[in-house]
Amino acid sequence: MKEIRKDSITGDLVIYASYRNQRPHDMVNTGENFNGNGEEYSSECPFCRGNESKDDELKDSIELDGDWVSKSVANKFPIIDMSTEEIFGEHEVLIETFRHNGSFYNMNIEEFQFFFTLLVRRVDKLEKEKGIKYVNIFKNFLRNSGASLMHPHSQITSFNLIPPEIQKELQVAREHYKKKKSSLYDDIILAELKYQKRVVYNGKYFLLYVPYATRYNGEIRIIQKDDIEFGKLSVSHINEISYILKELFKKWKTYQGEIPFNMLIHTYPVDNKEKDVFRTHFHIVPRKYNFGGFELSTNLFVCGTDPNQLAEFLKFQ
Ligand SMILES: [Zn+2]
Ligand SMILES: [Zn+2]
Repeated sequence: MKEIRKDSITGDLVIYASYRNQRPHDMVNTGENFNGNGEEYSSECPFCRGNESKDDELKDSIELDGDWVSKSVANKFPIIDMSTEEIFGEHEVLIETFRHNGSFYNMNIEEFQFFFTLLVRRVDKLEKEKGIKYVNIFKNFLRNSGASLMHPHSQITSFNLIPPEIQKELQVAREHYKKKKSSLYDDIILAELKYQKRVVYNGKYFLLYVPYATRYNGEIRIIQKDDIEFGKLSVSHINEISYILKELFKKWKTYQGEIPFNMLIHTYPVDNKEKDVFRTHFHIVPRKYNFGGFELSTNLFVCGTDPNQLAEFLKFQ
């Protein structure tokens, strides 16, 4: 079966071909699957506790019993910095846990809570800086996803512009609002809850689901149900998102192993002017497969993961 599907959030067109990967428990050996059984400390690693150097620029940290458990430092090789007026912003690295062998696949709920508490605090701080229009949050896990260091970390970049991917999503949401007089994200939440088969977990603050169409085989999304800005998330929001990620990655691991992935958090632009059209959401993108010439030459992506089947497998008990 082949059909053309449209991603409701990004507007991307996808060729859905159900025969492409029929095996639901598709264990792929990417040649670098994570091994979480390593040591908690590595003497070689610049992010490990005890290996701090004098030129580290510490931005903020969460401490427990006098030691940091999660911290943010300036990126020593920034994509973006304050050196020009044309494009400027900060680039920080958030070390999610002090454990070198930590990962989303094995972090406990407190580790997720410390990490999110720090992340929320950093976003709030960076959004207040002069001239900043957008704060971008992303995570690369393993080299296939763009990560250069093993120690678990995420990154934040602030910008004096709104990145094109966000512009694209904003445009899709504006068009929906114009046509339907309602928020695209509220409508997705309502439709998913009604249909049920793609819902993985329905929380008080967040909905976790597998989208009907996405460029990236097996992508998972989380939509925040209310319009509280990321930098103002409450302890209850942080606790729920920590629970969701911990449970999701536990399940994900049994589905396909500890594979590389990216997590992208799309938040409101700093001006918060379009709260009725846009909503904070997460993209969790497995990096099992690489793209080929077909995708690069056409900007059409072929997707073979059945969202209903994947959601059924991942559903929280
Ligand atoms: Zn380390
Ligand atoms: Zn998005």
